[in-house]
Amino acid sequence: MEGIEPRNRDVYNPVEEVNTPTFRPGESPELSEPLSNQAEKSAEQPDTDTQSAEDTITIPEKSHEPSETDGPPSDLSADNSPRVSKDTVPSPKEDSGESIGESGQTLPESFETKPPEPSESPGPTPPPPQSSEDDVNIVNPYVPYTYEQMKDESLKLAELYPDIITLDSIGSSAEGRELTLIKLGKGDKKIILCGSHHAREYISSSYLMKMVEEYSKAYSNSGYFGKYNVREILDKICIYVVPMVNPDGVNLVNKGLAAVNNKQAVEAMVMMRSSYREWKANINGVDLNRQYPAKWDEKYDEVGKPASESFKGAAPGTEPEIQAMMKLSRDNEFILAASFHTKGNVIYWADRGTVGLIPGVKDMTKKLAALTRYQNMPVSEDPSIYGAGYENWFRLEFLRPAFCIELTPYNNTDLPHDDKKFDSLVWKNAKYIGLFFADEALRRK
Ligand SMILES: [Zn+2]
Repeated sequence: MEGIEPRNRDVYNPVEEVNTPTFRPGESPELSEPLSNQAEKSAEQPDTDTQSAEDTITIPEKSHEPSETDGPPSDLSADNSPRVSKDTVPSPKEDSGESIGESGQTLPESFETKPPEPSESPGPTPPPPQSSEDDVNIVNPYVPYTYEQMKDESLKLAELYPDIITLDSIGSSAEGRELTLIKLGKGDKKIILCGSHHAREYISSSYLMKMVEEYSKAYSNSGYFGKYNVREILDKICIYVVPMVNPDGVNLVNKGLAAVNNKQAVEAMVMMRSSYREWKANINGVDLNRQYPAKWDEKYDEVGKPASESFKGAAPGTEPEIQAMMKLSRDNEFILAASFHTKGNVIYWADRGTVGLIPGVKDMTKKLAALTRYQNMPVSEDPSIYGAGYENWFRLEFLRPAFCIELTPYNNTDLPHDDKKFDSLVWKNAKYIGLFFADEALRRK
């Protein structure tokens, strides 16, 4: 993601910072570069904070929130060595302004204690005896996730849970990979969740896939996931999940240049970071969360041409992935939307352009923050920073709630996390988010 760099060191985990990307046989040699880059970054940004994320997932304090300094840096235009610039200046995106988050804020009544503990047993209804389905785990989020894995697991989930999962496609990526849509639920009402607009944030894809599996499993078994009555909720609503908006970029990150059709084109693009493990854009070098026709003209672009990140495109909506997301969103009356990114454990819930036009979002965000222990960010004030993201476009287009959720603790590197730590980095805090939004959506209408 963007815009929430060192300020989130309250959740900085030094163990994560030194994690070594997991490589597979046959991956290209570029993938070995990140470690040196990490060392360089550490030297540039010494950090004495030795707290671990495990210890510090609490309602964050105001002192850790972003400031107006998140705005576009004025000296970047003259600097053609973007890696240096990007390493020293926080990357802009959503920013600042007043905050709704307060240290020691009162938690809503139903969330006064820790989020409900695992799902399998605690509902009012005792769980049935173990069936063979209880032991089935199709989704494996503990490895660097790829398009092929997502496709394979989607098919298997649909096969195992045919009464609750339907697969569809919303179009194709720049390289022709299918943009998979998973419809989870039976209801007429709909919400949309999407992941991996940004390639290196692919853990948002494995997260959504894990969510689909666990909710389906709960639906088929006890009917409860934590305190949520999954069966009742999913009988009334359908959760549309686009787990991987940017499959070409994700595969570049996790399979290297060998996975790319037009290698020369990619090699010619500006590298804002040192390795393909840190690639963020789609395979055309366009940053997909700077592409939507919502204040696009005002959106800041520090590179201006195809690059591993930050290029907003020659015009809004040029990329096939964005066109597919826009069409899907226009063709369905989604009550709300959530787009998942990393890193930061924060919730962007409003921008200045629409905050007064979409009621009820502030309260919803407070409840979500209490449920996840994520920080609710201030209203994004500056279109040059917040403009052109999916959530911004959705708010502007439909005047309905849309959230940008940064999963995972910030860890002072742009490399992906160690996927083996998926449970503690992502799932522990985020497993109820889909049901939370479904439940909130049902309350709205
Ligand atoms: Zn992102």
